[in-house]
Amino acid sequence: MSAVVIDGKAIAAEVYEELTGRIVKLKQKGVVPRVAIIEIGEDEMSKRYVSLKENAAIRLGMECVTYHLVSSTPEKRVLDLIARLNADPSVHGMLVQMPLPEHMDTKAVLDSIDPEKDIDGIHFCNQGKLLNGEPAIIACTPRAIIHMLDRIGVDIESRHTVVIGKSILVGRPIAMCFLNRSATVSVCHTKTQNLADLTRNADILIVAAGSAKLIKADMVKEGAVVIDVGQTNIDGKLCGDVDFDEVAPKASYITKVTGGVGPMTVAMLMTNLVDCAENAAGR
Ligand code: NAD
Repeated sequence: MSAVVIDGKAIAAEVYEELTGRIVKLKQKGVVPRVAIIEIGEDEMSKRYVSLKENAAIRLGMECVTYHLVSSTPEKRVLDLIARLNADPSVHGMLVQMPLPEHMDTKAVLDSIDPEKDIDGIHFCNQGKLLNGEPAIIACTPRAIIHMLDRIGVDIESRHTVVIGKSILVGRPIAMCFLNRSATVSVCHTKTQNLADLTRNADILIVAAGSAKLIKADMVKEGAVVIDVGQTNIDGKLCGDVDFDEVAPKASYITKVTGGVGPMTVAMLMTNLVDCAENAAGR
């Protein structure tokens, strides 16, 4: 039997429906949620992601201001811009599109964002709270995955969850979110030996490696839930980390690239923005 494909677009549409009501209530209080996006350089994928985020905010009736900076922009100018946006009460959320040009200190830039406006959930304060299991702005991809699994009724507690990828922005927060939900978590990376021995033991397998079609059928347990986060641009087409055609017949639930985690990640970014605007309005 083939897996049920988790429809990220359909679940994202439900999220947008719920956000619409919350945005109406904010507007009744005179608050229009506003996001500032800083995009540095000319990376084609970055431009694509920025336009998805802009469109989502505008479709929901929120405001979005994007600052396009050339890749040679000095880091100090970016830090000054972030300081200005931090101090502007009309800006509720902010993000800096990754990756940054090589001359910039990514951590210094990200950690200069006001943690209460950090809608990507990657400021060290938010990551630290996540580590402690405290309420925090959660990074969008882990929040998206948890939301999808809760929505379709997949149990997380006690399930052996294997995360491939240990990046600060994706793999680690995913692992922490699942640990906070009392899953048993294994984190794999390029130095992991015998990767398939671990993945074959996963009840929930989350792949965020950025390595196209890394996961084949013989690496997956019968009935596993398989979540594909990877997005590799191959000749202008996005390719996931899971060999979908091979793995789908073995899994119970699976996401597709595209139409899975991607649309839900944008929906969770919008949710983080509305959360921030509500918090600011309540202050
Ligand atoms: P990254 O390059 O910073 O990290 C990749 C991680 O995967 C590293 O920890 C590395 O050790 C591990 N890895 C790579 N190849 C591996 C292999 N063959 N075996 C085991 N481990 C391996 O990338 P990232 O920023 O964490 O993003 C990961 C992927 O997720 C990328 O394809 C990115 O485009 C995608 N992504 C998707 C969304 C979405 O909304 N769907 C959001 C963010 C990132």
